[in-house]
Amino acid sequence: MIGVKADSSEHSVIAEFFELFKTPWEFCREGQSYEVLLSTGNHGPARGSAQLVLLYSGRKVSFDSQKKIGIASRKSNCVLAYKGRSIPIYGDCIAFQEKGSGLLADEQSHRSAISRQQDSDQTVMRIGYDLFREIRALLTVGQPVAYAAIPTLDLHIALMRDLIVASGVPLIEVPPVPDGYSFIACLTHDVDHPSIRRHKADHTTLGFVYRAVFASMGNFLRGRLPVRTLLANWAAVVKLPFVHVGLAKDFWRGFVNRYLEIEKGLGSTFFVIPFENDRGRDLNGPAPAFRASGYGARDIADLLHQMSAAGCEVGLHGIDAWCDIAKAKEELEEIGRVTGGSTTGVRMHWLYYDQHSPAVLEQAGAIYDSTVGYRETVGYRAGTTQAYKPLEAARLLELSLHVMDTALFYPAYLGLSNQQAKGILDRMVGNMVEFGGCMTTNWHDRSLAPERMWSPCYHALLADLKGRGAWFATAGQATSWFQKRRAVRFRAGDTDPLAVCAEVTTVQGNSVPGLRLRVYNGGESRTLGPHSSEEFVDIYFDQSVNAPAPCGVSR
Ligand SMILES: [Zn+2]
Repeated sequence: MIGVKADSSEHSVIAEFFELFKTPWEFCREGQSYEVLLSTGNHGPARGSAQLVLLYSGRKVSFDSQKKIGIASRKSNCVLAYKGRSIPIYGDCIAFQEKGSGLLADEQSHRSAISRQQDSDQTVMRIGYDLFREIRALLTVGQPVAYAAIPTLDLHIALMRDLIVASGVPLIEVPPVPDGYSFIACLTHDVDHPSIRRHKADHTTLGFVYRAVFASMGNFLRGRLPVRTLLANWAAVVKLPFVHVGLAKDFWRGFVNRYLEIEKGLGSTFFVIPFENDRGRDLNGPAPAFRASGYGARDIADLLHQMSAAGCEVGLHGIDAWCDIAKAKEELEEIGRVTGGSTTGVRMHWLYYDQHSPAVLEQAGAIYDSTVGYRETVGYRAGTTQAYKPLEAARLLELSLHVMDTALFYPAYLGLSNQQAKGILDRMVGNMVEFGGCMTTNWHDRSLAPERMWSPCYHALLADLKGRGAWFATAGQATSWFQKRRAVRFRAGDTDPLAVCAEVTTVQGNSVPGLRLRVYNGGESRTLGPHSSEEFVDIYFDQSVNAPAPCGVSR
């Protein structure tokens, strides 16, 4: 069990960190001994207080003076090298003079960011940054685009796990991996333009014609577009007047059928705009006029019923829900009225969001949000593949958006070829296999039709996700699974107080896959990870499980 010593101002972020690294822990209690003591800043270790002490601080602390630990450099914003990966540090960071093990080092100076101090009965790992300030920055401000590709928060967890397992202390955790699968995949679709017929000579139509005729030609000449697709786009432009007078099929309107055909019952989530012609607000007043949508949920009621009947989820693609509780309620209710159910999930149109949005959405009745992501790139804004509870929220979970089709392919953003996009997605699916969690993607409603024609990459992504063991869940189901894992509590075993019992303390979540208790047996000191399946055993459970001693929760 980990005992944590930190300032009370850090308590909320520490509690959230240990929902993501789901292992037995508590704030240090007087007179209690712990196998691992995690302390920050000047909360240094008392002698003999734990077998392993993890002392995080990005500044010189009294322990450094006591032990005469030489500090080579101190800076803000640095990148640490850890097992062939990079961990960006957004706050203070120090490097030590002594030569370290090479596990964690400043990428520029190659100096170690960990100093190991060994007493007879205790190992202190002095780590040169402020862990919980980093976690707070990730969960609030998020990562800049330059580091989007790095699951930084998950790497902080991996490093801590490594240090504990390598020290020989027994460790258990409930990893973010559903029973029977390698990770979760959540396929979503923002419904922005369900029908081209609703657009007359507006910016949407003009943009369509320009991209279908000229941008397609450019892509064809660069070898990025097959001639078949180029001709299909041109044909669509020729057909457009006939679509408007009702003599040709509206080629954007068939998106539900096409997604159902490709996904074959995997169950995706469609985020739908509640009201037509409502541009909503941004931080400075009315939003730009072209944020207003050419449709409202009522206009595509038949499609929403088709989605629900096929096992898909319909969520709110919000207009003002991000900043106004009354509007958020109204928007959620409108989707519920049209579908005849209740709507509890949100992604904001144009990804509008600020620090108060989690509280606003939660007070309006939302259970999850899936807005936090990047418009211009793909990756991990909060540095994690996991759903997390924003620090301002009491219950609402954020199911971050990791991949948006427009970010991959639009020239103003990444502007990738199909092949390049597949390469990036392949690495991201690799991260899922390594860290677990939920990969959330957004392929827009019109992305399979002219002029985008982005289905080849989507087909390849689905095949990759299936091949590597994803559990495909709607956003609501993925949220339920994370809630079930968050509801796990650890307590001393019923018969053996040195053993541990993990149990789910909620009756919800029975319809989603079970959990696994991962037991690292401790004993011998080990080399540092990656941890093979020989180092741990997974015990699958749905409601409760007993892990064998010596994985005690308290002594
Ligand atoms: Zn949108």
